[in-house]
Amino acid sequence: MTSVVAAGFDVAQVRADFPLLRRQARGRPLVYLDNAATTQKPQVVIDSITRYYTEINANVHRGVHELSEVATEAYEGARVKVRVFFNARETREIVFTRNATESINLVAHAYGRQHVQKDDEVVISAMEHHSNIVPWQLLCERQGARLRVAPIDDRGELMLDAFEALLGPRTKLVAITHMSNALGTITPAAEIVRIAHAHGIPVLLDGSQAAYHMPVDVQALDCDFYAATGHKLYGPTGIGVLYGKASVLTDLPPFLGGGDMIASVTFEKSTWNVLPYKFEAGTPDIAGAIGLGAALDYITSVGLENAARHEQDLLAYGTEALTAIPGIRMIGTAAHKASILSFVMDGVHPHDIGTIVDREGVAIRTGHHCAQPVMDRFGVPATARASLAMYNTRDDVDALVRALGRVREVFA
Ligand SMILES: *Cc1c(COP(=O)(O)O)cnc(C)c1O
Repeated sequence: MTSVVAAGFDVAQVRADFPLLRRQARGRPLVYLDNAATTQKPQVVIDSITRYYTEINANVHRGVHELSEVATEAYEGARVKVRVFFNARETREIVFTRNATESINLVAHAYGRQHVQKDDEVVISAMEHHSNIVPWQLLCERQGARLRVAPIDDRGELMLDAFEALLGPRTKLVAITHMSNALGTITPAAEIVRIAHAHGIPVLLDGSQAAYHMPVDVQALDCDFYAATGHKLYGPTGIGVLYGKASVLTDLPPFLGGGDMIASVTFEKSTWNVLPYKFEAGTPDIAGAIGLGAALDYITSVGLENAARHEQDLLAYGTEALTAIPGIRMIGTAAHKASILSFVMDGVHPHDIGTIVDREGVAIRTGHHCAQPVMDRFGVPATARASLAMYNTRDDVDALVRALGRVREVFA
């Protein structure tokens, strides 16, 4: 295997930890390059979930019996792991949700209902995932508020001056991605927060992509909310994270109502549980949280900085290789980007690219990547997107390049 072994990072060893990577696709070794949609899971994550259901399954926060105590400890232990991973100040600032989409919807409801009124404005960017567009559209519709969109340039970089020009006394929230899933752009998140805070405006960062490609420190970023999703962090589906500053979360009304989120219930009036439980109605995804905790342990053991360096090497290698293919145009060429190779090919619809490379065992994504406005911005209906994770290799990129050669032959 041609792999660059960076100090402290051995990609062959990392690959061996992911059992699914040993399977075939279309009768060939699987080349998995759809990581921006979801990542594969290391054996330790799979084992942690099996172990939970085999040995400690019980409902949390409820029983006095031993099993319930053990399950609660494991669930709350996972929350501590999330706090440490994102360097949040307090564990009660970590809310478990189903995914990043639910985290963002939680803020749109709880914060939005309280702070966004008629004629107020919410500012997003032109490179958002639908999950960071539609909840704000729904909120604005409900409240009679207005959604404003900060533009991006031809490389896919946020235009900071134009962004700042949108901020005013009516702006009640800025919600921007930390890394674009369609373009790979890493946004200047700390700078965005600094600018917004100078105007007295809180900021939500959509960290769905960023969180598994670079170390994230919510205190250094100083963001008010940070949304992440477990299944991209090499963890299970069905578990997400919302970080919120305690000072901000404390004053918010609940999102969903039900068990666990209350302090007391009468038919006249209910009162709310303390943070973070106020925002965790009903039985949570206990196994999912524990699996996510195991995934974060795994990422930490590999070292996210090591993984990021490896992925940056692959990104540079892949960018050069794809750019050298006649008729291919890269979409998203920001100076600061990670792990996403989005492209179009002259005379070939992206769906045909996806279908033909799939026959070679290469899994990429084609379509609008849940970011239709990004496609509109670049004047394309769709792109083909290869997205990298820590276990990908130069061999994977070479396989993609060979498969794209097949596409050229078919459409010659
Ligand atoms: C994947 C993704 C989301 C949504 O994640 P879900 O797990 O589907 O909730 C939101 N934003 C970005 C940038 C993403 O990549």
